[in-house]
Amino acid sequence: MRGLMKAQILDGKALASRLRSTLADDVTALTEKHGRAPGLAVILVGDDPASHVYVRNKKSACKQIGIRSFSHELPAETSQQHLLGLISELNQDPKVDGILVQLPVPEHINPETIIEAIDPGKDVDGFHPYNLGRLAARKPALRSCTPYGCMKLLEETGEDLHGKECVIVGASNIVGRPMALELLLAGATVTVCHRFTRDLQAHIARADIVVAAAGRQGLIRGEWIKPGAIVIDVGIHRLPDGSLTGDVDFATASRRAAWITPVPGGVGPMTITMLLANTVQSFKTHLGDAA
Ligand code: NAD
Repeated sequence: MRGLMKAQILDGKALASRLRSTLADDVTALTEKHGRAPGLAVILVGDDPASHVYVRNKKSACKQIGIRSFSHELPAETSQQHLLGLISELNQDPKVDGILVQLPVPEHINPETIIEAIDPGKDVDGFHPYNLGRLAARKPALRSCTPYGCMKLLEETGEDLHGKECVIVGASNIVGRPMALELLLAGATVTVCHRFTRDLQAHIARADIVVAAAGRQGLIRGEWIKPGAIVIDVGIHRLPDGSLTGDVDFATASRRAAWITPVPGGVGPMTITMLLANTVQSFKTHLGDAA
């Protein structure tokens, strides 16, 4: 029923492609000027098929814009100590501007210990407590990629975020929490909902901006959305037929929202793009070219 659809689509794929083209120009100029390309080390432990796909996509996105990627694919039984040793080498390696450990890691490895071992200046995922703390203290350094990408999408709407009622669904360290800090920094009034929230619908119903990141397919019903709201759907779920869908019921929500991100083609392409942007930012910082 396309005729009923009112919302404008926040096209993450198109925005990502514009940003990547600017980044590619930056990388070409900087590589020429400094005689080396930015470098991203990508570490993958184990053989989780989804993680392999993510890592392949990240490496190919790097290649497209001229970032060198250094791949470290380790067997599932790799010890935490061995992984920490590799991170320590990469922390010292002057060719490496960014270090990414693909999550989840196998159960015998503590992800927090791993994240905290990465030099915060090379933490291009923006997961290190130092970088989260910088964002909390209103002096962001390397920003978490998914929330950073959501902020770029919100910028596309042209809406002034000051004083807007923003409701985030999900409070994880990698999405919900840094998203709340980003929106607070932008002057919005922020509510964070999570699994213990009572009456999620009432929170959503008063939101000018909804960011859905609960990881629950179709949790946010279209009829809950305030007419004219902006809806950013971070959730990704694969359906039995292989297609992807989000945390928001798109068909109904798009009849009420003013703007909405599709899944796929919304937040997903922006996350990888911000990883590239962070790698370039960290390269510039390492070269003393941060201006
Ligand atoms: P997570 O499981 O770590 O956190 C989920 C959060 O949602 C928790 O804070 C939990 O309390 C809350 N929650 C769960 N059920 C809820 C409910 N019924 N009502 C309200 N809150 C509820 O997940 P995550 O790593 O933050 O990822 C969330 C989703 O975003 C997943 O679908 C993931 O695949 C997706 N994701 C997408 C991208 C992207 O690039 N598009 C990046 C990261 C994560």
